Amino acid sequence: MAKKQFKAESRRLLELMINSIYTNSEIFLRELISNASDALDKRYYLSMTGEIAKVNKKDLTIRIERDPVNRTLTITDTGIGMTAEELEKNLGTIARSGSLEFREQLEKAPKNIDIIGQFGVGFYSGFIVAKKITVESLSARESQANVWTSDGSDGYRIEPCDRSEVGTKIILELKDDTPEQKYSRFLEEGTIRELVKKYSDYVRYPIMMDVEKSIPDPTDDTKRIMTTETETLNSMVPLWKKSRSKISREEYNEFYKGKFNDWNDPLKVIHTTVEGNVSYTALLFIPSEAPYNFFQPDQEYGLQLYSKGVFIMDNAKDLLPEKYRFIRGLVDSDDLSLNISREILQQDHQVKALAASLEKKIKKALEDMLKDEREDYEKFYEAFNSTLKYDIYRSYGMSADDLKDLLLYRSNRDGKYTTLKEYRERMPEDQKEIYYASGESVSEIERMPVMAKLKEKNYEVLCFTDRIDEFVITMIPQYDGMPFRSVTKGDLDLDTEEEKKKKTETAEANKDMLTAMKEALGDKVKEVRLSSRLQDDAVCLVSEGGLSLEMEKVLSQDPLNRGMMKAVRILEVNPDHPLFTRLQTVFTEDKDKFNEYADILYDQACLIEGLPIDDPLAYTKKITELMIKA
Ligand code: ADP
Repeated sequence: MAKKQFKAESRRLLELMINSIYTNSEIFLRELISNASDALDKRYYLSMTGEIAKVNKKDLTIRIERDPVNRTLTITDTGIGMTAEELEKNLGTIARSGSLEFREQLEKAPKNIDIIGQFGVGFYSGFIVAKKITVESLSARESQANVWTSDGSDGYRIEPCDRSEVGTKIILELKDDTPEQKYSRFLEEGTIRELVKKYSDYVRYPIMMDVEKSIPDPTDDTKRIMTTETETLNSMVPLWKKSRSKISREEYNEFYKGKFNDWNDPLKVIHTTVEGNVSYTALLFIPSEAPYNFFQPDQEYGLQLYSKGVFIMDNAKDLLPEKYRFIRGLVDSDDLSLNISREILQQDHQVKALAASLEKKIKKALEDMLKDEREDYEKFYEAFNSTLKYDIYRSYGMSADDLKDLLLYRSNRDGKYTTLKEYRERMPEDQKEIYYASGESVSEIERMPVMAKLKEKNYEVLCFTDRIDEFVITMIPQYDGMPFRSVTKGDLDLDTEEEKKKKTETAEANKDMLTAMKEALGDKVKEVRLSSRLQDDAVCLVSEGGLSLEMEKVLSQDPLNRGMMKAVRILEVNPDHPLFTRLQTVFTEDKDKFNEYADILYDQACLIEGLPIDDPLAYTKKITELMIKA
């Protein structure tokens, strides 16, 4: 078969990856062993279900061979193997599904090595240490073996080869040593032993290697002689079966990174064993960052499922509620049948009980984190808040009761995150609603005209800086008996009885003027009225009904929606502002001018809200004329 070129982006990615994880070159071994272990899982499982020929558990192994003379390190597994097509598909493209996004992100931030962590490194990490990789493989489903070879730089070749053992053999031809990197160390027994212990001890298949041993010389017991023996390097106890007190955080971290292809340590580990109706051990992790593809629609999620230590399936969705889909991890239960399929999983009441129990554990872990490890919780929240919020929205608020105490919003007071509970506890006695305001940032919200008045009253405002926030809150009717209220919606009712009385009188006295203003603006607004929310500004725009101006902005970004969904607008005028007296004068003296003023004020209110104005040219012209006259 002719040599095939890597896709252009693959080559660049490869180079980048090699350079960036260069200082941590040893992880290649963890990655290759982890792939081998997965392949063994697959073979065992398929042989149990009868899809492929039966295999004995004792024949499922991983072997490591060192050849210092030829500078090769070989990792052989008796797993499922790959057909020629699979070799092509799996090893022909680096960061397969994600390569496009990967490149886009790289282009955005070429120096940001961190993003590499969001992509699994996998098989290609072999090229950190190898100048050439050969992969011989015989699939359990075929009789013809194939070999894939590549030097990593410009392409790969796949051709048939002789091989009678089902499984995969990966031969790494190590690079020459440089002053910075001694690749030869990977040919030493001690190094391999250490690395397997460090990264792969829990692998449930024996990782075997020939080791040199000195034994007493049988012919002369004053001497010792060297001999080679095959030794299993790993303890083979799955990490989750060990007792928690015997596992260090480091071990958890390494396990997580190897198993779930993450570059970063997990933020939180949940390791729990439950005995009861349905018994299980779960080892769950909250990642510290969302993987690059987390927000793609239809992205798979779920837990790995094991039964009595035997791997059954990946991404078992029925074990994990969607609102917690950021969780990575596994569940091992003795109560499930090995033949359980995805379909059975959906209906099985044992599985339902298991899922319910897991859900409680996860919720509790999040609550504890919020209570005791606030900084970590905020980090978690930064990464995954949209998952929680979206769940409330998607369920029409059904999950709100469950999730509302996990929500955080930034407070206008200090820009820091607050829970609803904390906000509620700080509320002054006379405050009857929970206030929120939408905007790009806390500082933008702080500049809103209405804020001065709220501050005077000592009312705190939750800053909704995420586009989805306002949509979500419409699904949460109240918190602890307090309804939510947008500071730019409807009547805020901030006035005292006395102020209200005064306002009614002023409104009555200026009725004609306000009506004239409404007429001048036509159907741009539903009403022009006096404001009780303004202090330093002359006018503002508010809305009425379900849709706010901010939501209108979000919706109008969708081309299908443009102009369709409009908030009901109301122009509010501040009767205590010096401009109000001026308006009264103009209203009695010059009707045309008054109409022009109305237009200008409306446009200003739009601008303050960050909304486009209908005719910017006309607006500037009017302002310029006013300036000339002044
Ligand atoms: P990942 O493991 O994240 O999917 P890799 O680049 O490590 O990414 O591997 C790509 C794919 O190649 C794997 O998903 C698997 O299907 C296949 N593969 C890799 N190593 C082996 C192996 N030793 N035996 C069988 N299949 C393998």
